[in-house]
Amino acid sequence: MSTAPLHKIGQQCIPFCEVYFDDVVLTEDQRMGEPGKGFMMLMKNFEVERAYIVAEQVGLAQAALEDAAKYANQRIAFGKPLYKQEMIQELLTDMEIKVQTTRQLLYKTLWMMDNDQPVQLESAMLKRYGCKECFNVIDMALQIYAGLGYTTEVRVGRLWADARGNMFGGGTHEIMAYICGRQVAKKYADA
Ligand SMILES: Cc1cc2nc3c(=O)[nH]c(=O)nc-3n(C[C@H](O)[C@H](O)[C@H](O)COP(=O)(O)OP(=O)(O)OC[C@H]3O[C@@H](n4cnc5c(N)ncnc54)[C@H](O)[C@@H]3O)c2cc1C
Repeated sequence: MSTAPLHKIGQQCIPFCEVYFDDVVLTEDQRMGEPGKGFMMLMKNFEVERAYIVAEQVGLAQAALEDAAKYANQRIAFGKPLYKQEMIQELLTDMEIKVQTTRQLLYKTLWMMDNDQPVQLESAMLKRYGCKECFNVIDMALQIYAGLGYTTEVRVGRLWADARGNMFGGGTHEIMAYICGRQVAKKYADA
């Protein structure tokens, strides 16, 4: 087995690489689960992983929101603090709504998991909605910081790059729609 490092633009704390399984021989005692059930096991694992990714994404968005709101109090532009500008208030409002909404959806999905309820639909909806909305929150935080946010002086740019990656890891936005759309159609087939 060999690996080839890949250099990410965010999430620097986790190494990233391609893994090559050349001439690897596995014995029967190294098999995980039942033969023929590997794909289903992987899909089940993704349901949990997607919720964890959104938990991380909510944390990143909350951090960006806190930083941006604090900065909006401190930064004086055109003779008053930024937060007194109505357009900045609108950004802060939408950021808070998106973080709270995603957190509630996350809690609901985790509660369902804890109570042994199926979450194939919920975890994919959560991933599709939560990763994008939380990324949008961080993008709005960057907008509040403007030029300063586009530097390495503050952490919002790093949060932005970290959060963008979460829209791919654990399954992309498009694949989440593929998983959800068919289930939603079935759910309301006889409505
Ligand atoms: C931060 C991060 C962590 C990751 N961690 C892991 C990990 O731990 N283990 C691991 O194995 N992989 C990991 N990945 C890889 C990740 O799972 C893949 O990047 C992701 O599944 C998309 O695959 P791809 O990059 O090959 O894109 P592709 O499959 O080439 O897709 C390219 C684009 O086409 C779209 N697309 C593809 N097929 C369809 C379709 N049928 N319908 C509509 N649109 C489609 C995709 O949504 C995407 O926008 C990670 C990636 C990131 C960014």
